Amino acid sequence: MDTNAVRERLLKRRDELRQRASEASADLRHETDPLSADFAEQVTQREHDDVLGAISSSAQVELQQVEAALRRLALGRYTTCAVCGEDIEPERLGAVPYTDRCRTCAEGGRRAAGRDGRV
Ligand SMILES: [Zn+2]
Repeated sequence: MDTNAVRERLLKRRDELRQRASEASADLRHETDPLSADFAEQVTQREHDDVLGAISSSAQVELQQVEAALRRLALGRYTTCAVCGEDIEPERLGAVPYTDRCRTCAEGGRRAAGRDGRV
């Protein structure tokens, strides 16, 4: 695994997410678009704010995952599943570069399957 390429990719993604989160929260504060005095217009603006809030919080969540992935990369644990300790499939990391678990664990897990026993 080319960890430098992965790090570059994650850093780039982190910058995009930071940008998106900060733009959405700047809009939410109405820095460039003050709340209208008109009630109907305010309703539209508040609906828009809900959308911005969702964008901002989903960007924050992904941002945390990307930062956690960068930490795991620095610790040499990037390809290790946080749940079962097995290697995460390279193609899975290619598709979801910030994942911290292997496909089995992500899909409900070896543990859950084990708990159900031999059904
Ligand atoms: Zn696992």
